[in-house]
Amino acid sequence: MNIRVKVDRWLCIGCGLCEGDVFVLEGGHSAVRPEFRLDGSITEGVVGEDLLPSVQRAAKACPNRSITWSRRDFL
Ligand code: SF4
Repeated sequence: MNIRVKVDRWLCIGCGLCEGDVFVLEGGHSAVRPEFRLDGSITEGVVGEDLLPSVQRAAKACPNRSITWSRRDFL
């Protein structure tokens, strides 16, 4: 099953703690890595179940809870 990921760039302070397999800093704020973007959006993406640990780590690391994820079709 795929995982939907989302980052709220308004809440993001650009600390970089979420950077890794799924997220990367872009323009001073976190963004979904280009290969996972949904319809070209830098804030929403879809990743495989194999990347769940990376998604969970990034979400847990974020001091502002800017990163959310879900196995459902819509967040
Ligand atoms: S950890 Fe949170 S606040 Fe820091 S860059 Fe990532 S999304 Fe932004």
